[in-house]
Amino acid sequence: MKEIHTLQGLKGFADTLPQQDILMPVLFVGHGSPMNGIEDTEFSRNWAAMASAIPVPAAVLVVSAHWFTKGTYITAMDFPPTIHDFGGFPRALYDVQYPAPGNPVLAKETAAMIHSAQVHLDHEWGLDHGTWTVVRHMYPQANIPVLQLSIDYTKDPRYHYALAREIFSLRKKGVLIIGSGNMVHNLRMVAWDKLSEPEYGYDWALQMNQQFKELIVAGDHDQLINYHLLGKEAMLAIPTPEHYLPLIYTLGLKDKGDELSFFNDKAVGGSLTMTSLRIG
Ligand code: ZN
Repeated sequence: MKEIHTLQGLKGFADTLPQQDILMPVLFVGHGSPMNGIEDTEFSRNWAAMASAIPVPAAVLVVSAHWFTKGTYITAMDFPPTIHDFGGFPRALYDVQYPAPGNPVLAKETAAMIHSAQVHLDHEWGLDHGTWTVVRHMYPQANIPVLQLSIDYTKDPRYHYALAREIFSLRKKGVLIIGSGNMVHNLRMVAWDKLSEPEYGYDWALQMNQQFKELIVAGDHDQLINYHLLGKEAMLAIPTPEHYLPLIYTLGLKDKGDELSFFNDKAVGGSLTMTSLRIG
């Protein structure tokens, strides 16, 4: 592996990842409030525990709800900057830097795998809070390359599901693909006064959380892709698609033999669920 930088022991990687014997799991992570990025919560503890439970990845590729673009982009810089894409939070959150390297070669290879879109190599984005608030708990040493793939907001869920399948072979190269969003995410309806409670969900949010899990377990991806047909509760759960589509990416990456397990299966603030999924 060619080392391109050494920064306080941190290495940047620019080489092709070899094929591995194992198939890396895929995760969907409910990221919730950016404060999970600096707080020791049961959610952030479970992210760290998940990292210990799965093989150490050669790289991490995150499809974040917070990179919603016209067209498809992949971060391709040696060192993606930490982006503080939120407002009104304590200074400590803005002070966080997550200096993981990128992997420009992997970015290029990933772009080349995707034929349904022309994937642009990005040098301006970086790691947004959908990525670093989660990944810094998983890999606190920031010694594993992290890339982001954007979500094209002009496309429908079936397109995203199909696009995800095109990068399936990354799982054979030790790349951990994470969809980072929230299955139920309605910010307008959040009960801000209840956000500090460990668990609080409106009836419709709990109902949709249950239905999503049942459809995932049943392998009924069609109904999950066509979520707009699931009734008015689904419209409350998914008023806008950006936090839900990362789930569609992870489902598109599922192999027939993969086992499924849920973690952080809780609603917070009434209208958000932290429910997360391990595939494989
Ligand atoms: Zn978010």
